Amino acid sequence: MNSHDTDIVLIGGGIMSFTLATILKELDPSLGIAIYEKLEDVALESSMVWNNAGTGHQALCELNYTPENADGSIQTKKAFAINQLYEISKEFYAHCVRKGLLKAPETFINPLPHVSFVFDENVPFLRTRHEQLSASPLFKNMVYTEDHELIKQWAPLLIEGRATDQRVAATRIEEGTDVDFGEMVHQLRDSLSKMSGFEIFTNHRAIGLDKRSSGWDIRLKDTKNGTIKTVRTKFVFLGAGGGAFPLLQKSGIPEGKGYSGFPVGGLWLICKNEEIVNKHYAKVYGKASLGAPPMSLPHLDTRIIHGKKHLLFGPYAGFNTKFLKHGSWFDFPLSMRSDNWLPMLEAGMRNVPLTIYLVEQVLMGMRGRMKKLNLYVPNANIGDWTEQFAGQRVQVIRRDASGHGDLQFGTEVITSSDGSLAALLGASPGASTAVDIMLQVVRTCFKERIQKDGWEDKLREMLPSYGFGLEENIQHFNEHRSKTAETLKIPFAAI
Ligand SMILES: Cc1cc2nc3c(=O)[nH]c(=O)nc-3n(C[C@H](O)[C@H](O)[C@H](O)COP(=O)(O)OP(=O)(O)OC[C@H]3O[C@@H](n4cnc5c(N)ncnc54)[C@H](O)[C@@H]3O)c2cc1C
Repeated sequence: MNSHDTDIVLIGGGIMSFTLATILKELDPSLGIAIYEKLEDVALESSMVWNNAGTGHQALCELNYTPENADGSIQTKKAFAINQLYEISKEFYAHCVRKGLLKAPETFINPLPHVSFVFDENVPFLRTRHEQLSASPLFKNMVYTEDHELIKQWAPLLIEGRATDQRVAATRIEEGTDVDFGEMVHQLRDSLSKMSGFEIFTNHRAIGLDKRSSGWDIRLKDTKNGTIKTVRTKFVFLGAGGGAFPLLQKSGIPEGKGYSGFPVGGLWLICKNEEIVNKHYAKVYGKASLGAPPMSLPHLDTRIIHGKKHLLFGPYAGFNTKFLKHGSWFDFPLSMRSDNWLPMLEAGMRNVPLTIYLVEQVLMGMRGRMKKLNLYVPNANIGDWTEQFAGQRVQVIRRDASGHGDLQFGTEVITSSDGSLAALLGASPGASTAVDIMLQVVRTCFKERIQKDGWEDKLREMLPSYGFGLEENIQHFNEHRSKTAETLKIPFAAI
């Protein structure tokens, strides 16, 4: 029985689906959009505040965006790109605040200095990173030091109890942010729910989808009463986080063949001692250990959740076979198919250091975790910290240019050739670049409407820096970044 028809169906109630729904409703308020979420509320998986680190990724402190070349120089291309992608996200947040779709900015985004901190053999790396990045207007305000005293002013916990002769280095930049993506999802849900043509269904799990001549029939199970219904739609977005991968397989589209996913779990140490929490006010990112996936950089983070400060350290990685925190132990084994087992095996053989790293992390107990924390907070005591699971990420495995399976750490948007289906796979840089990722979906799947219905102009109005190389246009940079910062109440220094 076709119980419901709608223009657009979004599977999954996380930041990606809500960003896409908001953009589409802004472009055409008459569109019918329905979001189906399998849990009892939205944003309970990766977008939930404790399941991610809430870093507004802008490459201000994350050292994985500037890999080192064999000659000691630094690759800056990715850092420049991510810096500008997050700016587009901030312009979207500012647009939503001005339109009343998001509430006061401090309810979901807060200014927080971003600090990189390294010691011993990594000091030259950070020095070169600073030299190269700060030559660009995008990173001009980044300050570098090797002075224990100055670092102590920036983040006392890093220096207290540390040997005075240990070589250390840090960079700091004021313009960093901490974001509560889960809160943002709830606010967008509330605003969209007041619009005609928008519906949200929780406790509805997508269990299958069938291609029709124009569009899709989506099979959904009501997890409360067990009934199954089918929804007919012209366009479907699989924004189900780790759950997108099995649904992509079920869609049977040729573009989804050969992909597989590798789950990596996360765990934080959370500080229980308010005195220590109040001593720290920054996001401090260090350098990843050998074999660690790029998103496992150790970081000591202030989080601001509903106006209250918290402190966490991690993430420690872990392996389990679930694709979602609320997933099934069978997710990983059941994802194996004739078209993806070989790439999976090849990716495993090519990533031995990652496997060793994961085994080490899984076997690590609380004492081992404290040892890692003590590298960053020498005075940390076991009694002040407690463990808490973070979200689950699914890394993409696909064939590379040589045809061999490779593990990817980015995100990938897969679209059907007729543009009626898009799926988001992968994990990084994540929620911070949701707007750019969802714009890719709009550009690919709504190409005709962009040209025919003036969507390009509307997008420019919403996101003035979209498609603009800010680095080459200082006037534009100053004008738009300062407007965004003013609306979001975050710092901005003109250049
Ligand atoms: C440990 C960790 C730290 C991170 N830190 C950061 C950070 O600092 N900054 C950053 O920008 N990003 C970070 N990320 C990444 C970020 O959290 C994710 O990229 C982002 O939240 C993904 O949003 P999403 O909407 O795709 O997925 P999710 O928020 O996971 O939403 C997917 C939704 O789909 C639902 N679903 C699944 N299957 C089905 C189905 N079959 N039917 C219906 N619904 C379904 C799920 O229940 C869920 O609600 C981090 C992630 C992790 C795990």
